Amino acid sequence: MTTAFIAHSSCRLHNMGPQHPESPDRLDAVSDRLIASGLDAHLVHHEAPAATREQLARVHDEDYIAMIEAASPESGICYLDPDTAMNPHSLDAALHAAGAVVLGAELVLNGECRTAFCAVRPPGHHAERRRAMGFCLFNSVAVGVAHALARGLKRAAVLDFDVHHGNGTEQIFAAEPRVVMVGTFEYPLYPYSGVDPAGPNMHNVPLRAGSGGEAFRAAMTDICLPALDAHRPEIIFVSAGFDAHRDDPLANLQLTEADYTWVTREIVAIAERHAEGRIVSTLEGGYDLSALGRSATEHVRALAKL
Ligand SMILES: [Zn+2]
Repeated sequence: MTTAFIAHSSCRLHNMGPQHPESPDRLDAVSDRLIASGLDAHLVHHEAPAATREQLARVHDEDYIAMIEAASPESGICYLDPDTAMNPHSLDAALHAAGAVVLGAELVLNGECRTAFCAVRPPGHHAERRRAMGFCLFNSVAVGVAHALARGLKRAAVLDFDVHHGNGTEQIFAAEPRVVMVGTFEYPLYPYSGVDPAGPNMHNVPLRAGSGGEAFRAAMTDICLPALDAHRPEIIFVSAGFDAHRDDPLANLQLTEADYTWVTREIVAIAERHAEGRIVSTLEGGYDLSALGRSATEHVRALAKL
């Protein structure tokens, strides 16, 4: 059984300006490293479809979706918040980023692949039901989870190891007992949420600035992974942000590639126990290009068990 690599050319065209850390170069950093490592040849490449209105509306309000569509500029850049902007390609990119996770869910649920990695941007985990923020327009991972539930699954899970708390995903699924969300994030740090869980299905652990692999693995081993295992998810989604890496310029945790390998192997084991191995991972943050490429490659290597 294979690992799918899902991408779309529009994600390369979304651009929030030459100084913005969430740059198109991030996708090249991931692809280049996957190719250089030899891993790319073992992946099955798919082009992401655009998410449909119906798929988006499972997690976003209709008037919010209409607002994003209306904000899409014909030229130049339109700011939705001080960090989050749209150029003429951003809407298309955000639709395909969400559609990539939907396709990933379809592929693993149909048995066409065992795991999938979506190399897409903009990221999604900060996008709330009716608010764009933190570089995010639509909550791609949430759209994928909601799609799996709409297909009749009774239990899904999200692992979010981005260095920033996935406030949007937590808000969207806080009252949804079919979903468990686990992960770690640096606190205090943007978006300054997550310390008080929004629901009993939320197991997100704050880590202090300077924390490294030891603290990360302890939080995972003591809290996140047991909660994930106890839920017996039929599919696991990953908000794969690599900005907790020690080289990342936007945060202050000290993870290394080995930590991403370790946590990925742990969830592969849980997915094989409960979910026939089904994992759909999507790129969130990660702003040091070299560290991003290396970390994503080791994550994909562990997903593919290569
Ligand atoms: Zn982040």
